[in-house]
Amino acid sequence: MRYDEPLFRPPSEADSFILQATLGCSWNACTYCAMYRGKRYQVRPIEEALADIAEAGARFAQDVRHVFVADGDPLGMELDHWEPILRALGAAFPRLRRVSTYATARNLLEKSPEELRRLRELGLALLYIGPESGDDLTLHRIAKGANAGDHIEAARKAREAGLEQSLIFMLGAGGRERSEEHARASGRLATAMDPRFLSTLTLTVIPGTPMARLGEQGRFELPDVLGLLTELRWFIEEARPSAAIFRSNHASNHLPIGGRLPRDRGAILAAIDEAMGGRRPLRPEWARGL
Ligand code: SF4
Repeated sequence: MRYDEPLFRPPSEADSFILQATLGCSWNACTYCAMYRGKRYQVRPIEEALADIAEAGARFAQDVRHVFVADGDPLGMELDHWEPILRALGAAFPRLRRVSTYATARNLLEKSPEELRRLRELGLALLYIGPESGDDLTLHRIAKGANAGDHIEAARKAREAGLEQSLIFMLGAGGRERSEEHARASGRLATAMDPRFLSTLTLTVIPGTPMARLGEQGRFELPDVLGLLTELRWFIEEARPSAAIFRSNHASNHLPIGGRLPRDRGAILAAIDEAMGGRRPLRPEWARGL
């Protein structure tokens, strides 16, 4: 298999076969993101993707249950690329149970309902989408390329095609200035998008990014730890998905917790309160990562 570093995947895909069908991100403009800066977006030639699948199939045919298609937003690939890839994955891995990928609201809005249904029929099952915020001003400032309404429409299209969503929201994305608006609107957007999986991560301001430059100019300031925990509390208060598994176990978070929403809302809020009151340990700074 040929991998072009850096290679990213969600924590829950740690045991998956990673197929790098695209390189970089077609958007590559979010102000906080350094994942693919300097990496020119390209869809890898189909022959290369199929060769990687054939090689992995020859080595791990009976072992692979989950496949994650990388890099940043492969859902944007055309159907004539997706179709042979999904067929080949199904043929190479007889015990395959799930194919997942990163997607943006723009990717979903650009695909027709028929195209999305076709992808589902061929085995694509789960989309990791990072709205990051439900607050339109924050979304505009971080250059996410889509507002809350776009995300709701994208989620509707995904649901109607039978595609599951795993949503990621980013504590701190609104800075101190938009902290409460950002957190509460994010919870409301999670409710409206109604995912099967829901998670938060915490913004890390990476040197060299547009967001870091705003910080240097005094135009962006990340909330402190207590402020970030307060954002998590606001988010959980507002988030009312019909039945979602919630996790904040990403390495960037100070408080790794989880549960089912709405069932465990009270327990999750109690855990946040304990952390805010100093009665529950936080992940030490040295153990946090991107
Ligand atoms: S869509 Fe994702 S990968 Fe692309 S720039 Fe934004 S955060 Fe980075």
